[in-house]
Amino acid sequence: MTASWLLQNVWLVPMDGPQDRPLGEVHRGSLRIVGDRIEALGALQPRPGERCEDGAGTFALPGFVQGHVHATQTLFRGLADDLPLLPWLQQRIWPLEHAHDEASTRASARLTFAELLLGGTTTVQTMESVRHAEITCEVALAAGMRAIVGNCLMDLADGGVPAGMPTSRHEAIRRTEALWRAFHGREGRLSIAVSPRFVLSCSDELARDAAALANATGMRIHTHAAEHPDEVAAVRARFRRDYLEVLHDQGLLGANTSLAHCVHTSPRERDLLVATGTAVLHCPSTNLKLGSGIAPIHHYRTRGVRVALGADGAPCNNRLSMLTELREAALLQNLAAGPGAWPAAQALWTATRGGAQALGLDHELGSLRPGLRADFVLFSLDDARLGNETGHAANVANRLVYAASERHVRSVYCGGQRVVHAGELQEAPLGTLAEIGLAAAAALPAVLQRAGLAR
Ligand SMILES: [Zn+2]
Repeated sequence: MTASWLLQNVWLVPMDGPQDRPLGEVHRGSLRIVGDRIEALGALQPRPGERCEDGAGTFALPGFVQGHVHATQTLFRGLADDLPLLPWLQQRIWPLEHAHDEASTRASARLTFAELLLGGTTTVQTMESVRHAEITCEVALAAGMRAIVGNCLMDLADGGVPAGMPTSRHEAIRRTEALWRAFHGREGRLSIAVSPRFVLSCSDELARDAAALANATGMRIHTHAAEHPDEVAAVRARFRRDYLEVLHDQGLLGANTSLAHCVHTSPRERDLLVATGTAVLHCPSTNLKLGSGIAPIHHYRTRGVRVALGADGAPCNNRLSMLTELREAALLQNLAAGPGAWPAAQALWTATRGGAQALGLDHELGSLRPGLRADFVLFSLDDARLGNETGHAANVANRLVYAASERHVRSVYCGGQRVVHAGELQEAPLGTLAEIGLAAAAALPAVLQRAGLAR
């Protein structure tokens, strides 16, 4: 029989309530873990011989779910600042991604997963480059994270894509199939998504093949859509239709699909999101940094479109922090739709259970409930800088969304295993943050050289 253990004396924030009280009943109690799942929570007494941990002074929340990240780009943080989307891709990101080798991809993935875990993210969907996505899968498994990974599909060489970066249509699909066979379902933590990069980098045939592969295997679909006005105009010029209409015609919309951004959508495209049940992955920092616009998230939410938050790639953020995205998301909707359009408690719900719903994972995670995976974060919120009502349950969502930062993350557990303690990574297996940083610094010069961007 699998041993159980008990986390005692915590404020439990279950995130399992109805829409007007999304946090559920915040109460003091204990959390019992058996294997990688929550067995019970509430007023629990230790069983004879049961290991106990004291969580006094902390709030336990479900681990954050980030719907859109590029682990492969983390090594390139700070190398592509102050550019709009298409030049950002053409001048920096595509050449840099194309210059990756296995060692540099591994260094980038280690840094990504370390940073995500330190910030309380336990589940991530990440779009990798054309090559080496298997390295990211290996690192995600080693890190203890839950991840949805995909190699990005690109078979068009126009639009500033480096020569040799796109593959043939068949090779793109073959690589996703190989990842699926090798990694899908591994350790109950890893899955593979079919990941066309965006409309402009895929032929119509490849997009249709991608949809067919997802249909045949049940894999999720993860792509970008309608991010920047110039990109939207380029899609309209090529297809004579709106962005989401193109994706719909290609068979890529549906309940199994999540689309990063959806900043610039027409009424007809919004109807398509609703009608197909497609989810939106909102990346507010990226939309601000690339000057893309403010996504109409309030509109999507009121129409029942599922929404997850994500940091996107480190070069367009430059953080991978859910707490940063939460704050940006809530503030932007105040600007776009008026203060109170996205109250803190509902934004926090989106960062946890709502994100899990958007990725089709809410039967497994996203709330603290018996039977779900034991992915949770302990926050220490006893800090005068968060407001005066510290130490008890009042305003926990407001403190987390508007004022808290990574320094308030005390411990992180994924599948019942502690991966962050006292704000530090558990050393095995990723290594210390200092070691991870040294590996990244060592890997970068050769990548810059190959990309023709060495200074
Ligand atoms: Zn992206």
